[in-house]
Amino acid sequence: MTPEFRSLAQCSKLNTTASGERTFIRTRALPAGMVACCKVERLIDEYDLKQTIGDQALEQYLVARWIGRDEYTATGVRPLKDWFNQRLIKRAYTDSGRPVLDTPIADAYRTLTGDEAAFELEADLETDGIDADQLRTDFISTATLYRHFTDCLDVSKSEATETSAESDWETDKIEYTKGVVETNVRESLRALTNKGRLPRGAEATITTDIVVGCPDCGTQVGVERAIDRGYICADHSDPVDSC
Ligand SMILES: [Zn+2]
Ligand SMILES: [Zn+2]
Repeated sequence: MTPEFRSLAQCSKLNTTASGERTFIRTRALPAGMVACCKVERLIDEYDLKQTIGDQALEQYLVARWIGRDEYTATGVRPLKDWFNQRLIKRAYTDSGRPVLDTPIADAYRTLTGDEAAFELEADLETDGIDADQLRTDFISTATLYRHFTDCLDVSKSEATETSAESDWETDKIEYTKGVVETNVRESLRALTNKGRLPRGAEATITTDIVVGCPDCGTQVGVERAIDRGYICADHSDPVDSC
């Protein structure tokens, strides 16, 4: 099986050949002649996520949640990306006959995207024919979903939505910026590798950490962590003009 074929394999079924060699078989593909706008649409097709949520297609549902249309409160791209990626796991579970329960799926997602090795989960998934590496490759980033909304679907959050208290545009913007940084760094590394100035630079992993520091004592913390916990520095989190 060629790598190209493997890279298209979604929700693969693990097959054991006569020789005992196990291969992942592609079960879905875009219909001939159809071209996906980007990774998001390709995955919707390959993972068969065309079913409706409520009374709308998955894509409309995501947009409605993002911009806060219908009964939804505006949501950031990051939680929507997590939701989408969990649908991929859910589909893989459904296809392999694993029970589809929200908590184990959320746990599996956290494990697969976490910093710790996930050997136990990977082995467990493999017994059901689910390729953990393939899932990881298929997971979309916040920047990918943001670009799908804004470039492919040509949807933008209005100023009114962006300034509403419920909106999460601030973290969206940070995530998007990180995606742009990663893309540019990757491009540079690839060029440097081609010029022979940095062997294997093109294959390097790239981590973008944006770190913020306390204006008083210089304590540093990742910007997402600061936003999640609601302060940069525990000792100096009160506004200066408070008594
Ligand atoms: Zn797209
Ligand atoms: Zn401080």
